[in-house]
Amino acid sequence: MAVLFPEYACEYSKRLAERSERFAKQVYEPKLPDGTSQEVHGGEEFGMDPFGELSHASKVKGLKQRFPDRVLVMTSDACFMNCRHCTRQWLFGKTEIVETDDDLARCVEYVKTNSLIRDVLLSGGDPLTLHDDRIMQFVDAFAALEQIDMVRVCTRAPCTNPARVTAHLAKLLGRSKKVWVNTQFNCADELTDEARAAAARLVDAGVPVSCQTVLLKGVNDSAPEMLRLLRALTAARIRPYYVFMCDPIVGIDRFRVQIEKAREIERVCAESIGGLSLPRFVMDIPGAGRKIPI
Ligand code: SF4
Repeated sequence: MAVLFPEYACEYSKRLAERSERFAKQVYEPKLPDGTSQEVHGGEEFGMDPFGELSHASKVKGLKQRFPDRVLVMTSDACFMNCRHCTRQWLFGKTEIVETDDDLARCVEYVKTNSLIRDVLLSGGDPLTLHDDRIMQFVDAFAALEQIDMVRVCTRAPCTNPARVTAHLAKLLGRSKKVWVNTQFNCADELTDEARAAAARLVDAGVPVSCQTVLLKGVNDSAPEMLRLLRALTAARIRPYYVFMCDPIVGIDRFRVQIEKAREIERVCAESIGGLSLPRFVMDIPGAGRKIPI
């Protein structure tokens, strides 16, 4: 499968990391040759694959299902920046992705035979590392199904490689009127002119953009910093959707924020801004039937 691997993407993230310490903290540390990370310590109860993406959640090649009404389709195992806090950092290179047209057809068939599914998340990795025509093959295949209300494109490109969100791609994504973009910004420094312009291209093309932030120690774990982010997102027409506690995986202890502190940040935010700017603060717990409010 042809994957775009643009050098300029890494360059953009590198430049941003030079300007923002909060962003730099999120940049991935290379793993050791034995597959461990230098920062692995105090392993978590749920290990490296807390949501069973390599086992019970895997339904057909490249498709995962944890909830009755939605599925996750792994479109790529590449990203524009590898994040140190990534839930899937241990799965890259191990998890199956949808590589061929036959793989995609099997995913579509799975959705068709499961009538409760209404929501397809295109994820990975980052779908925007693919060429436009391949992205649209995924989008069109699922958007064409009457049972599907929305196709979510889960991409950190607006933050890590905004130039990849071209006006042309935004227009293509807006075509079916079923696409939503889920992105991730973790601090206000990331809302650069380029990032805001990328979001504007999507919104202007009729693609709603929402943000799933991760609560990270040293990045956004104070009420003023979180408010700065939420206001910057709102001003960029990006809806703050979730703030996630770190997932229960090994290797990200350095980012964990105590629940009491998270609740205090949420309380101050709720008392400071209106509902449209206020995300839900949640945690994703293996086996739970929903995202659990903190
Ligand atoms: S962009 Fe998303 S999938 Fe890729 S490394 Fe970062 S958090 Fe993980």
